[in-house]
Amino acid sequence: MTRSLSILGATGSIGASTLDLIRRERGAWRVVALTANGNAADLARLAREFAAEVAVVADEASLPALRAALAGSGIAAAGGASALVEAASRPVDLTVAAIVGCAGLAPTMAAIEQGRTVALANKEALVSAGAVMTAAVERHGTTLLPMDSEHNAIFQCLAAGDLAHVRAITLTASGGPFRDWSAEQLAAATPQQAIKHPNWAMGAKISVDSATMFNKGLELIEAHHLFPVGLEKLRIVVHPQSVVHSMVEYRDGSTLAQLGPSDMRVPIASCLAWPSRMDTPCAPLDLAALGELTFRAPDEARFPATRLCRQAAEAGGAVPAVLNAANEVAVAAFLAGQIGFTRIAVTVEELLARYAPAAAATLGDVIAVDAEARSRMRQMMELV
Ligand code: NAD
Ligand code: MG
Repeated sequence: MTRSLSILGATGSIGASTLDLIRRERGAWRVVALTANGNAADLARLAREFAAEVAVVADEASLPALRAALAGSGIAAAGGASALVEAASRPVDLTVAAIVGCAGLAPTMAAIEQGRTVALANKEALVSAGAVMTAAVERHGTTLLPMDSEHNAIFQCLAAGDLAHVRAITLTASGGPFRDWSAEQLAAATPQQAIKHPNWAMGAKISVDSATMFNKGLELIEAHHLFPVGLEKLRIVVHPQSVVHSMVEYRDGSTLAQLGPSDMRVPIASCLAWPSRMDTPCAPLDLAALGELTFRAPDEARFPATRLCRQAAEAGGAVPAVLNAANEVAVAAFLAGQIGFTRIAVTVEELLARYAPAAAATLGDVIAVDAEARSRMRQMMELV
């Protein structure tokens, strides 16, 4: 039986890994919508290869190039924010939400409102919209499958028990490329060094987030919404080998962990095949060759991001949306060479101290807080 699928953010790292698996089981899938930001050439190539129904660029300026590249293919081309939401609302069995940043929020919500299955990689959307998104999942009876490797690991470990019996959930963190750097070295870290992750090949934004540990902090907030056991039961441990992807400890003292190669195709396959299983081309784990798995406590003096994220989650409401927006602006400024690496966390903390947002009850409220936080952050950083 074929299943229908859309990928929001098809040209990115998660999009490519997803399509790599789809390519291997071509007959099992019918591709409906593929989307990108502005990369019309790559998007058109993928849309043709997978015979998509529609290809959408979020950046309307790229639409003429997309139209030209798809001419004669019979594939519809569209552009702009509302076209993206329209494409995300086309009925499909499974939507892979893999846009980076809060830009993915509205289309991800449109996919959730279908009431089918959404595999979520786009953590920033859940961090920003928290309660609004989980309420929509509930209201529409949507199945939300976590694609982020840690959350996918936790999801798998929770199949063996019940949330009510969970004593603690531990997210593992590689610690990023700078985990052993001194404060002085961190202050001088370059974008090129930050995007060179030791274990995972990922998009630029999440690579910087891994280096600052904002990624783990955002994941803590993500876990808080996906697995409501209470913030006090969520922990983080640094595990440089990225083999144990996260753990669930039950009240009787049993800890379940999910292990696997550091290849996103494993959690992606888990979502694509769920509740069944599928083959992946990933090399099996060879624990004897790995020899040792090590763990250590995070250092929040050098990497304050996890503390900031925990505080934002405790504050609740729209505070995590402000934190996320501030981080997105700071990461972009760092990648553009406008601020130093350690300024990312410092400026995020500054904005959180200055801007206490009103509670956000609707998608529109969250998007407004996100926009306001971005504009204040740019002003504060004198980027405007
Ligand atoms: P990426 O930068 O490689 O790809 C992002 C995708 O989103 C691209 O298709 C891009 O065209 C699209 N996009 C970017 N800006 C957009 C905008 N303003 N509007 C619409 N589309 C836009 O990113 P990635 O590494 O694939 O990460 C995607 C998401 O998955 C992120 O939220 C990230 O945190 C999460 N994630 C990624 C990994 C990984 O290994 N790459 C692992 C876990 C979670
Ligand atoms: Mg992750």
